[in-house]
Amino acid sequence: MPFSRYFIFICCFIPSLVQAASVDLNQFKVSDNGDSTRVVMKLSGAVKYSIFTLKKPDRLVVDLKNINKKTHKITSSVKNPFIKFVRSGVRNHHDFRIVFDLKSKVKPKSFVLKPSKKNNMHRLVIDLSSYKSKREIIAKKKIKKQPKLKSLVIAIDAGHGGKDIGAQGYKGTLEKKVVFKIAKKLEALIKKQRGMKAVMIRNGDYFLKLKQRIAKARKYKADLFISIHADAFRNPQAKGASVYVLSRNSASSVAARWLADRENASDLIGGVSLGDKDNVLASVLMDMSQTATIEASLKLGNEVLSGLKNISRIHKRQVQKAGFVVLKSPDIPSILVETAFISNPGEERNLNNGTHQWRLAQAMMKGIARYFNENPIPGTYYAAKQLEIVVSDKLPTIARSLPKNMSFNEELVGN
Ligand SMILES: [Zn+2]
Repeated sequence: MPFSRYFIFICCFIPSLVQAASVDLNQFKVSDNGDSTRVVMKLSGAVKYSIFTLKKPDRLVVDLKNINKKTHKITSSVKNPFIKFVRSGVRNHHDFRIVFDLKSKVKPKSFVLKPSKKNNMHRLVIDLSSYKSKREIIAKKKIKKQPKLKSLVIAIDAGHGGKDIGAQGYKGTLEKKVVFKIAKKLEALIKKQRGMKAVMIRNGDYFLKLKQRIAKARKYKADLFISIHADAFRNPQAKGASVYVLSRNSASSVAARWLADRENASDLIGGVSLGDKDNVLASVLMDMSQTATIEASLKLGNEVLSGLKNISRIHKRQVQKAGFVVLKSPDIPSILVETAFISNPGEERNLNNGTHQWRLAQAMMKGIARYFNENPIPGTYYAAKQLEIVVSDKLPTIARSLPKNMSFNEELVGN
């Protein structure tokens, strides 16, 4: 006889004069509490009992000592998340065994309650909850303990903008325009990566001072800063891409300048306040931070340069060092990419070609991916080894998934 949420089994209560010491099982109740199930047995006296589980099939066995022989047999199916069926039998003439046929392994907890003002009977209470192996418990704890993973923030700086047109090609191509198109493509590629965010330092054709660019990257707590440019030279033969990082010499002067403003410097070195340090110590700390940043920039620069080598000619085979103001964040690894010579007619044509712009963006994306896979920042997906950044070679697929207002598709015809 099935029951819905709980069932009560009323046992016959026949006082026995012969076995005065025996206990009557008067009521047996199973109630489903969602995550757990409670079994309550109401007894006429204190009872000795034992409880254990059996495997294959999963069962829970409760042995009650010295139970009145006249106690009804229990045979019932139960509608319950843990229990399928309950049955009972007499053992050793005066013990009563109750067997719960289970749906899965359970973790039983039992206790007895003495008669109280509210309830005049002895009660044996058994709580059932789902069994979890030690491994499962540890895994669950680990998940709980795991802090929220931080997204990597890539600041993309399209060079120039507004009144500052940058360099100009023979056919009139403006550096500010082509580098913006490349920057937008890099942004699209970064947005496709899980655990990574892109910040466009300028998101349109307007002028921004170099220091404003750094300030924006720092405001968004960028993990990397990539400034995108196109080179120019009076000799139209000059060609190829190059990558720059901040030179050590200009870094020192930057450190000095940042130090002049203690307010600004205080939050630069991993929370170490410089306010109460003397000048020498402060400059050493500043220097260490700057050195680490330049080293990281150099690693990133090398990765991006090797990506560029695969798709275009290279102007300088090594990462170059220069004092570009835009690279002077003391705490953000920063590189400047000269994507090509806009002053070279062939490269000017390339810079205007959508497919080539995609290839450039992809080469940078691959460089960024390699950099983070090899130098993961703690607290990110890449450090947690939850994923590796994989960059596809398929450009048209990327183009198709772009938002409608970015109509790069036509530029990919013929690819
Ligand atoms: Zn430029």
